Amino acid sequence: MDRYTDAVMNTFGTPGRVLVRGQGAHLWDADGKEYTDLLAGIAVNCLGHAHPAIVEAVSTQISTLGHVSNFFTTPAQVRLAEELISLTFPGRPAHDSRVFLANSGTEANEAAFKIARRHGGAGRPRVLALQDAFHGRTMGALALTHKAAYREPFEPLPGGVEFIPAGDTEALRSALGPDVAALIVEPVQGEAGVRELPAGYLEAARELTRTAGALLIIDEVQTGMGRSGAWMAHHLLAPGVVPDVVTLAKGLGGGIPIGAVVATGEAASLLGPGQHGTTFGGNPVACAAALAVIDTIRGQDLLGRVERLGSAWARELLAVDGVDEVRGRGLLIGVGLATGLPPAGEIAATLAQYGFIVNAPRPDTIRLAPPFILSDDDASAFTTTLSEVLAQALSEKAGS
Ligand SMILES: *Cc1c(COP(=O)(O)O)cnc(C)c1O
Repeated sequence: MDRYTDAVMNTFGTPGRVLVRGQGAHLWDADGKEYTDLLAGIAVNCLGHAHPAIVEAVSTQISTLGHVSNFFTTPAQVRLAEELISLTFPGRPAHDSRVFLANSGTEANEAAFKIARRHGGAGRPRVLALQDAFHGRTMGALALTHKAAYREPFEPLPGGVEFIPAGDTEALRSALGPDVAALIVEPVQGEAGVRELPAGYLEAARELTRTAGALLIIDEVQTGMGRSGAWMAHHLLAPGVVPDVVTLAKGLGGGIPIGAVVATGEAASLLGPGQHGTTFGGNPVACAAALAVIDTIRGQDLLGRVERLGSAWARELLAVDGVDEVRGRGLLIGVGLATGLPPAGEIAATLAQYGFIVNAPRPDTIRLAPPFILSDDDASAFTTTLSEVLAQALSEKAGS
């Protein structure tokens, strides 16, 4: 830990543990202590740790062809692009859609932002984003991110972005106009504490953006690739809605860094030769990992598993004393703590002592985003420990 502090920039605060090994939904720290991983590297390790399908795909690919520049393509890259088009836009003619492969969520959103800038050009300088939105930390994605503490130290950011209240159709209607290039939304706001957009909002957003000639960009970086129990959370929340652009990352590579922009219709051809690029994006090792993730989710019906475990677990969690609310979909769960309890960060630290890794995106919320392969027993063991930890905190409060 001292060596970390001396060598690594202090952007993340002090790390909770030094982790040395993972297997399935379990992790071990440098002292040999075991944890159940209910965070999965923030919704990333969807197949858990050291999954044989990812190990095999990555090992085979890197021992065959590890990297080429984007002057060339590889079979893995082409197959992944085709898969992402059919997973993101089922029922659309495949030739209407195109993919740009990047390395992270923020990069996927940078590319989406550039697509928005190309849409309508100087005649559409405005981009709408939602209050409490999180879209990433690079300058463009940061401009789309709402939290002042993240933004203000880095201003001036790319201009033209306006924030409107999340889920408010009337606010969207009055903000939209012929000078708006795009609206970007997360179907479930993850960093804001797992807050789902209200029913009907995405449908209204699609209708209103279409009327105004603006693009609808859905950021599925955290919610996509099965985490909600469907390939994309917007498929579940708003089945008829076809966005122009969808961004993906986190779970896509199952732990190998990769991001993607999937666009359809006019938006699919707005970035032309020379207008965007990346050295590593579309790297065959990352693509092979993503293909292994997709094949495994499909082959083992993990979407069904996420849906069933997620809804049963949410019911269990809601019955815990001290839990006020359980939000989210599938295995992206926000556990809302009752007022008067210690801050969620303290509860998360106590839970780590008891061997469960979770995080606290807000002072009143514990976030669970475990691997899809989490067992029923591990989920129930957490519920039991959480109820003990909250009972203890409630009795301390009553005694003080
Ligand atoms: C995590 C996240 C991002 C940023 O992804 P990085 O890979 O950390 O750059 C963007 N959007 C959403 C919704 C996220 O949850």
